Amino acid sequence: MTDFASNWSSVFRYAAEHSPFYRERFAGLRDVPPLDRVRPVDKREVSARNEDFLCVPRDRVAEMVTTSGTAGRPLLWMLTKGDLARLSLNERLSFGCVGLTAGDVVLVAVTLDRCFVAGLAYWLGLQELGCTVVRTGMASPALVLDMIERVRPTAIVSVPSFLRIVADTARERGIDLAGGPVRKVSAIGEPVRDVRLAPNTAGSAIGRDWNARVYSTYGVTELAASLCECEAGRGGHLHEELLHVEILDEAGAPVPDGTVGEVVATTFGVEGMPLIRYRTGDCAALYRDACPCGRTSPRLGPVIGRKNHLLKLKGTSVFPSAIAAALDDVPGVGRYVIVAGSDGAGADTVEILVDGAVAPAALREVLQGRTKVAPAVRAAPAEEIERLQMPPNSRKRRWFVDLR
Ligand SMILES: [Zn+2]
Repeated sequence: MTDFASNWSSVFRYAAEHSPFYRERFAGLRDVPPLDRVRPVDKREVSARNEDFLCVPRDRVAEMVTTSGTAGRPLLWMLTKGDLARLSLNERLSFGCVGLTAGDVVLVAVTLDRCFVAGLAYWLGLQELGCTVVRTGMASPALVLDMIERVRPTAIVSVPSFLRIVADTARERGIDLAGGPVRKVSAIGEPVRDVRLAPNTAGSAIGRDWNARVYSTYGVTELAASLCECEAGRGGHLHEELLHVEILDEAGAPVPDGTVGEVVATTFGVEGMPLIRYRTGDCAALYRDACPCGRTSPRLGPVIGRKNHLLKLKGTSVFPSAIAAALDDVPGVGRYVIVAGSDGAGADTVEILVDGAVAPAALREVLQGRTKVAPAVRAAPAEEIERLQMPPNSRKRRWFVDLR
């Protein structure tokens, strides 16, 4: 039996026996079905029966976390001691792709509490690699800058938007970040590359400001896994003994390598809450050609967008992130917000409100060239954009507003 067949057979039998959800789903099945014959589950189904995915008695749960809740109510996710060891192995392999070793001092500038799993996972993996870890969190750019000066870290793990805030703070205070000790940046949560795998605006700015190599990481709480780029920067390496990834189109059929579709994943070796063909809602492409680093595992490209954010304009599909990437590249474009609506007849409409020194007609032309769609563009006052970006009670600034 191949490793894949044996891993799939194990997770199938384990879930069918121990998870109330899968016991029901697989009732009457004697033999292990081909994985691609199993109906995928999406976040909504998992949310509706969240605790029915748990395969162990409650007293074996070592850690409870929640998902980030980008779509609906956050899921409650439970991990055993064994799952923490698996998480730790995953991160050790991922940071191995970054080339970190026991000699590295690493600032972990991500949230370590608030029920997030990511910070904990990074800490575990870095400890297993033997690195020195400094947990600054991401509440204070000043603390990060202070610790960079005091402990001379060689690498930092953080979110691109926070890394840019730290760089801005350094500039304001006359601190030379580029001349500092940090040479590797592990960027999580937001893309640093475009669909062609080239650095996007954020990735280029971080690389320049920090004078460091930027490594993109993609992780999903429910999968207790992350995929990180190697030196070649050609997508995050999949650890096949821990996770199986398929890329599916809207009809649920596999797409060719290098084509963007929905990331659907199956966990291997999870005790607490294994998942089989889990639709993440994230859209990206998988690459299987040889990587210059010599690793033979498939690689996942940058997340181009959320599946439910995909816009359909006059027969052409486009992710809001593609429109944003095009806008980011136009000099003179200030703040903007992309507003999606519906024309009432099943088609999407898009209006882009821009504050800046660029004529709407010129922007439309740029968008037509870059994204093959020409949405309405309107010059708008900064206050109107601010109201849309930061409505009352919102905790995060948004550049995409979905009114569909
Ligand atoms: Zn590689």
